[in-house]
Parts: sequence; structure tokens; C-alpha cells
Amino acid sequence: MTQHLQDTVTLQGGVRIPRLGLGVFQVEDGEGLVQAVKAAIRYGYRSIDTAAVYANERGVGQAVKEALAENALAREELFITSKVWNADLGYEETLAAYEASLEKLGLEYLDLYLIHWPVQGKYKEAWRALEALYKAGRVKAIGVSNFQIHHLEELMLDAEVLPMVNQVELHPYLSQQPLRSFAKSRGIQIEAWAPLMQGQLLDQPVLKEIAASHGKSVAQIILRWDLQHGIVTIPKSTKEQRIIENASLYDFELSRADMERIDSLNRDQRTGPDPDNFDF
Ligand code: NDP
Repeated sequence: MTQHLQDTVTLQGGVRIPRLGLGVFQVEDGEGLVQAVKAAIRYGYRSIDTAAVYANERGVGQAVKEALAENALAREELFITSKVWNADLGYEETLAAYEASLEKLGLEYLDLYLIHWPVQGKYKEAWRALEALYKAGRVKAIGVSNFQIHHLEELMLDAEVLPMVNQVELHPYLSQQPLRSFAKSRGIQIEAWAPLMQGQLLDQPVLKEIAASHGKSVAQIILRWDLQHGIVTIPKSTKEQRIIENASLYDFELSRADMERIDSLNRDQRTGPDPDNFDF
């Protein structure tokens, strides 16, 4: 059971990923972003999730640099994730994209580098690049994002290193049970993006009822549900109060009945694109 904001889960290959991190999708690069990331690290977050396409790696890098100094932390104590964008999928292109992300972030290595979307015909070459980076010790862990079971199966047909993480849209309206079972059987850690369904679940009646019974917010109930299921997650907020709220999950526990009620809310409903039908 997870007890603490800095609790980790060990990935295939032995790297430990924090169970909770901060997401920064749709956060404009600049002072607001820097302050949000610094607030999170000050409060105890150790994991930050960005991507080349978010166009905010420079700000994340600046915040990380300042936070390391101000909190007397070593780089190894943080876990930084970025992702290769679709336009850069290809062996040489992906190697170059990794270097570009590192340069923007001002880092020597990433803790986790992901293929952002499973673009047909392209992701296998990109995976070869991630494998090369991993084998050369340039990145601590590698994985994918938005991969369905069939994408994972296809990738693993001739992968030399198996994906350690699959970051997918996952929340009570899209609980991804088949994908979770498949991933578990292959030792792939599931990481939930849009855990709060981008804010759309905060008035959900069943979640509100469970939240009231624990004296917690709906966001806290959902994130605790993730943790109790062993799902790594990365809620996004730029507001310090919410950044703190989203990490205040360790003074209560959902009962089995609570967990089952939340599980039963699934409707296979996405807020983001469908990985089997996207055109970017
Ligand atoms: P989330 O489900 O994390 O929801 C974020 C929204 O909820 C924001 O509008 C935020 O507003 C609001 N919010 C956050 N906390 C609270 C709270 N306690 N109470 C009320 N409202 C709250 O959505 P995201 O899409 O941002 O997903 C999380 C992260 O996952 C991203 O930031 C990104 O890192 C990653 N991601 C990955 C994708 C992929 O393809 N791999 C795709 C999409 C996201 P405010 O900031 O104003 O507080």
C-alpha cells in the first residue's frame, strides 16, 4: 500500500518511478509554469511529466534547476519524463529529438522517455532508437504512450527491450481494465494521463458521495483509487493549492466497497483522441 508522496514502483530494469507526479500539458512556458513545478517539488513531488510537443521543456528545466538548488536535492532524486513527438518518429529522428529535449531541459539524461503516440508504420523504428539510448545508458527507462494491446503486441514482436511504461488516458469513466490486465501480465507499468478526466469528473455524483464520506475532494478520491490499483498517475494543476490537494492522499484509505463502486463507473469514455483513429 502506498503511504507517502515519494513512494515508488519498480519498473522492469529496476528503475523506480514515483507513484504520483505532476503533469504539465497545456501549461504555457513561462513564469507560471516555473512556479507550479517549483511548488510541486517544494511540497514533495519528485516526478514531472512533460513532452516535446507541450513546448514547455525549457521552463520545466529552469524550474528543476532552481528547485534542486533551493531544496538541496540531487538530480537523481527527481524523475523527469518527456516524449518524442509524432513528427520525429524514426531512428535518426528520434535520437535527435532526444538530444533536443535534453538540451531544452538542460539535463544530462531523462528518467523516462516515451513514444507519445502509436503512429502506424513509424513507432517500431522509433523504438529501436529508444532501445539504443537505453542500452547506451543515456536514459534510465523507456516506454510508450497511448498504445493499445495490439500496438504493444506488435512492438514486442521484435523488441529487444520491452516497454517499461504505457502512459494512457485512464480515469473512472475509462478504466482500461483489459489493457491493465495485459500490461500486468507483461510487466508493463500503466501510468494514467487525464486522471481527473481534465476536470470533467469533479461533479460526478457517486464520486461526490464517496468524497463526502471521507471528508476529501473528488480529485483526491480519484487519485487515491489510482494509487490503490497500483496505477502511476500525473495530475496536472498550475494552482499551488490544488497541487498540494492532489498529493494529500495518504491519510485515508478507500474501502473495498468504495473501490468497487468507482470501478463500476467505467463507460469506456474518452476525453482525448482514440489511439486507433487519430490523424496527427
Ligand atoms: P487532468 O485529468 O490532470 O486534469 C487537469 C485539469 O483539472 C486542469 O484543468 C486543472 O486545472 C484541473 N484540476 C487539477 N486538480 C484539480 C483539483 N484538485 N480540483 C479541481 N480541478 C483540478 O488532465 P491532463 O490532461 O492535464 O492530464 C494530466 C497529465 O497527463 C498532463 O498534464 C500530461 O502531463 C499528461 N498527458 C499525457 C498525454 C499523452 O498523450 N501521453 C495526453 C494528455 C495528458 P488547474 O490547472 O486550473 O488547476
